Amino acid sequence: MSGKMKIAVLYTGGTIGCEGSPLAPVSGELFRKRVYALPCFRNGCIRCSEGDIAFCIEWTTNPVDSSDLMPLDWVAIASWVLERYTCYDGFVILHGTDTMSWSASALSFLLQGLSKPVVFTGSQLPLASGRSDAVQNLLTAIMFAANFRISEVTLFFDHLLLRGNRSVKVDSRSFNAFLSPNYPVLGSAGIDLTVNSTVFLNPPGGSVSLDEQRNRALRKIEFSELRQALPEYSVIALTLFPGIQAGIVDALLTLSPSLKGIVLKSFGSGNAPASSGFIDALARASDKGVVIVDATQVLSGRVQMKRYETGYQLQRKVHAVCGHDLTAEATLAKLICLTGRAMIDGSGREAVERGIETVLCGEMTL
Ligand code: ASP
Repeated sequence: MSGKMKIAVLYTGGTIGCEGSPLAPVSGELFRKRVYALPCFRNGCIRCSEGDIAFCIEWTTNPVDSSDLMPLDWVAIASWVLERYTCYDGFVILHGTDTMSWSASALSFLLQGLSKPVVFTGSQLPLASGRSDAVQNLLTAIMFAANFRISEVTLFFDHLLLRGNRSVKVDSRSFNAFLSPNYPVLGSAGIDLTVNSTVFLNPPGGSVSLDEQRNRALRKIEFSELRQALPEYSVIALTLFPGIQAGIVDALLTLSPSLKGIVLKSFGSGNAPASSGFIDALARASDKGVVIVDATQVLSGRVQMKRYETGYQLQRKVHAVCGHDLTAEATLAKLICLTGRAMIDGSGREAVERGIETVLCGEMTL
């Protein structure tokens, strides 16, 4: 494979590898056999004008519908990348579309210091189906990973290359299923592949770069500690709706004593009902050490906690932290990752809150 760009592809399941009715993912062996049999993938080699690309396909132990993926799987995917880091020029993660934005966000936090492209993709129709978008998505994701210096986790779908932690699934029927409402697209695929490198993350400095063996070794230790810590705590997303009752928040606390964080999917620019029962219930959670992030349920725009009294009360009475223009998906992934880190190093709630308000890998704009 010398002289060629080398890309490692991980198949985790999702529609791209599904068959049957109802749809369910096929095994990794079968999926790879089907991909390699396609003329454009020629047993793991793609011919393109920029130079040939060699790729391999590996798979997770049990490829699943992405509805079944959990935070522990995020760590497993990140570990897979880390273990192959020096052997490949880039990585493609084949993933179901339903929770792809959560996984791509989580990977961006777990793989901070990334100096190579990690591109998530999948498809709306299975590879085996006649009108499938799978071939174009896989082929183009590999080409983006091989031909551009992108030091971040991205998501390619249909014709758009998006920052992973800014992406949102917006359509379950169209091939054009993902957008990043609060951030420009990183690239697009028409007749040519084009990128807007001015909106890329800067390559990481040596002290944090995963190019450094020492940093990779430290990260591996962190992943194994995170695997131990993750089952010990929970973080939830709570979507507000008119008439939400205090009892719901109390029940969540009672049922989940290990609750460490709430992504409060608030209204508009970060607002919540002022009913004292509801606010008191959130305040009780906060007093018990639960980190509450004010993250709007609106697709585009940002949280401004001081704009309305109904938002400001969350800061004053509940000590909620501001989610700025984070997507709800990235907020949840960030809160889970930061909580895990805080549990590992014993740094506690303040560190998590500070982390939420800090831009870690281009996930928000202050
Ligand atoms: N249910 C599928 C999944 O997320 C949907 C898809 O891949 O498009 O695994």
